[in-house]
Amino acid sequence: MARYIFITGGVVSSLGKGLASAALGALLQARGYSVRLRKLDPYLNVDPGTMSPFEHGEVFVTDDGAETDLDLGHYERFTGVAARNTDSVSSGRIYSTVLEKERRGDYLGKTIQVVPHVTNQIKEFLDIGDDEVDFMLCEIGGTVGDIEGLPFFEAIRQYSHDRPRGQCIFMHLTLLPYLAASGELKTKPTQHSVKELQSIGIAPDVLVCRSEHPIPEKEREKIALFCNVRKEHVVAAYDLKSIYEAPLAYHEQGLDQAVLDAFQIAPAPKPDLSRWRDVYDRVHNPEGEVKVAIVGKYVQLEDAYKSFKEALTHGGMSNRVKVKVEWVDAEIFDSEDAAPHLEGYHAILVPGGFGERGTEGKIKAAQFARERKIPYFGICLGMQMAVIEAARNVAGIPSAGSEEFDHESGEKRFEPVVYHLKEWIQGNHMVARKTDDDKGGTMRLGSYSATLAEGSKVAGIYGSTSIEERHRHRYEVDTKYRSVLEEKGLVFSGMSPDGKLPEIVEWTDHPWFIGVQFHPELKSKPFAPHPLFADFVRAAVEVSRLV
Ligand code: GLN
Repeated sequence: MARYIFITGGVVSSLGKGLASAALGALLQARGYSVRLRKLDPYLNVDPGTMSPFEHGEVFVTDDGAETDLDLGHYERFTGVAARNTDSVSSGRIYSTVLEKERRGDYLGKTIQVVPHVTNQIKEFLDIGDDEVDFMLCEIGGTVGDIEGLPFFEAIRQYSHDRPRGQCIFMHLTLLPYLAASGELKTKPTQHSVKELQSIGIAPDVLVCRSEHPIPEKEREKIALFCNVRKEHVVAAYDLKSIYEAPLAYHEQGLDQAVLDAFQIAPAPKPDLSRWRDVYDRVHNPEGEVKVAIVGKYVQLEDAYKSFKEALTHGGMSNRVKVKVEWVDAEIFDSEDAAPHLEGYHAILVPGGFGERGTEGKIKAAQFARERKIPYFGICLGMQMAVIEAARNVAGIPSAGSEEFDHESGEKRFEPVVYHLKEWIQGNHMVARKTDDDKGGTMRLGSYSATLAEGSKVAGIYGSTSIEERHRHRYEVDTKYRSVLEEKGLVFSGMSPDGKLPEIVEWTDHPWFIGVQFHPELKSKPFAPHPLFADFVRAAVEVSRLV
């Protein structure tokens, strides 16, 4: 029967609940257990698909096509368990389901209330089959005390009450601020936050305390006493140089042991941490460094490109080098020479994005990389920019552009080398999109297969001619231009299995210039770097040796 671990946070936001959950998942796996990680988010958007990356960070896409919170990316990177549509839910989704049911008359005329109707809906989400895994880890977004989060806290309280004793535990993350003037770690905010939890009927079993300084024994005892938690279950979480140290660091502080104790699992199976020791070694003992520019639009908020940065780090690990990522705002050279902004990098990555802003700069970045023979990795919009660049500057179509930009401005300015796709095949059925569809949920989303050309660079990198990758886009490169571009050397080396949709392009006379319509960064893991990222960083290392 699955055991449930509910993970909550208090005192301040951004304490790293997602990372703690992911690291705990990895540690339980290291002890031989199967895990699944899920997230309850209190915001009212139905899903994060329509939220600006500036506000919410990246949207993480699952194989089954859900647009989810970036924490699911952490979960997947640490556990290797592919996240699913049903792994995240927001208040917006819960409320909209309740309201749909109300409209259908499912509640038989009852007055609809937060308790029990909304909380029951949340509990229904939590219930997903007891035999599936050994541990279900469920993180509650936000901080205890937030108005929006209350129904979730109430639902997890009820859930643990409904279950047999000992099947659910609560793990709470807090902050121990350090007062430099008195040289002390303060425990009061933690005490208050635990009180807040207790006032809604939840008594934490394990406390994870973020702290910049070692927690003295005396303070640990005080926290244990005032918060009604065993002393050994007060676990310290110190700042780390790399997130990939988290599993080992939490293990050293006794987190997995505390959790198993709380479930009264004894003796605890011994952990095999070799995977994380190897990752640690690769992070801490690089044999060189490469500088990679991510040329994008959302450069002010690094979280907007979270998975790109992580996948590059993994690529570095596979080559035993440190990848220094620098963010370059493409808009700056929309109307000036790109070279001064791009010189000195060993490789250039143009990530995904939406809208026209900054695209002229990205096209220039593709041109710079092509002409200077610098490794270029174009992902989704980055591939589309590379194709437009080739069409304009090599194939003699100066007005080449994307329909996306014409749609945005409302006037026809470009020859649509990249066009708005209305119908496509998924697996063995047809998907159609109406022009007046809402913004949310109208994209080609989730995992699709692609067939790679025998002998192409990408087939060599993947070691296969058949791949599955995740997508999130509305526009596609038009195969109408395939022959003119291929004549000039930009080969369409990956296509959808029906041969209609370009999935990968590569310049044949370039050391490493690849554009992909999908998002390989979402599937990369520290212990299994994505082959495209591993090879891209390898190419960057080669450039770094030449200079
Ligand atoms: N805006 C482009 C499209 O919708 C690219 C999307 C992306 O980069 N994720 O096709």
